[in-house]
Amino acid sequence: LTPPSSGVVARIIDEVYELCRGDTSGALADYIPELAAVQPDSFALCLATADGQVYGSGDLDTAFTIQSISKPFTYALALADRGTAAVAERIDVEPSGEPFFEISLDPTTQRPRNPMINAGAITAASLVTGHDAADRFERIRRSYCRFAGRDLRLNADVYASEARTGYRNLAIGYLLRGAGIIDIDPDEAVDRYFRQCSIDITCRDLAIMAATLANNGVNPLTHERALTAPLVEQVLSVMTTCGMYDAAGDWVTTVGLPAKSGVGGGILAVLPGQLGIAVYSPRLDAHGSSVRGVKACRELSNRLGLHFLHVT
Ligand code: GLN
Repeated sequence: LTPPSSGVVARIIDEVYELCRGDTSGALADYIPELAAVQPDSFALCLATADGQVYGSGDLDTAFTIQSISKPFTYALALADRGTAAVAERIDVEPSGEPFFEISLDPTTQRPRNPMINAGAITAASLVTGHDAADRFERIRRSYCRFAGRDLRLNADVYASEARTGYRNLAIGYLLRGAGIIDIDPDEAVDRYFRQCSIDITCRDLAIMAATLANNGVNPLTHERALTAPLVEQVLSVMTTCGMYDAAGDWVTTVGLPAKSGVGGGILAVLPGQLGIAVYSPRLDAHGSSVRGVKACRELSNRLGLHFLHVT
């Protein structure tokens, strides 16, 4: 299989961008008040290869909050800090078929069903080690920086907005503490989760984070290792089955790439060994995923033959 030339990739990205640009369906997330304040028409599409070539169209440097795309990266850090077996005692890896905000634990084991829904993500945040709460968040932030290859910062307004209104996530935190799944103060665990969701990124950053996963955990621009290869495999497996929540089956059949979406409007997708894709467009579908993002990933996957089961 000969990969398409860089000219062909650049042209296909521009074509897919133009094709999706006219779709203004969907709605901004507004349950976190600050998220309703973004520019709804922003749109960016970026592809980064595992050897560090970057292609893109649109608002590549517009900042937006990472939201749930943080979940695989914090899960990765929890796995690195505690080991796979210890994390598995607290967080299962089964697709839930439920929305991300579902208040539910497995009835027999009490574990959250996977680390991509909020219950699993709050648990993963609770397992990250550090001297104190500030250090534990700082370790999360720095791990995201290694994936992106640059300094990433907290968006204080989005954080304050979510912290003020995130009662449902607090309820999940208290449920987890009551079930003995998290050992720390549930307020601290949920606060850490709100902070990690409020880290600002750009579409270009997200493509590099995806390319780092595609490159077996080594950032293709800085050559720094962000994650060990066995943990990359674990994280991408969970993204494949659970990353798109209750749309995971539809996503795997039509796009066929491990992926994660966030209510900030970002989507990250990975073709292991090859490339990462990132899309930013903040109008969301009923599952909380970017409408243009899902469409653009479908088109790119079809046109470039990226489905991981695709045989040429
Ligand atoms: N911070 C958001 C929440 O927990 C993230 C949700 C998401 O991006 N799907 O509600």
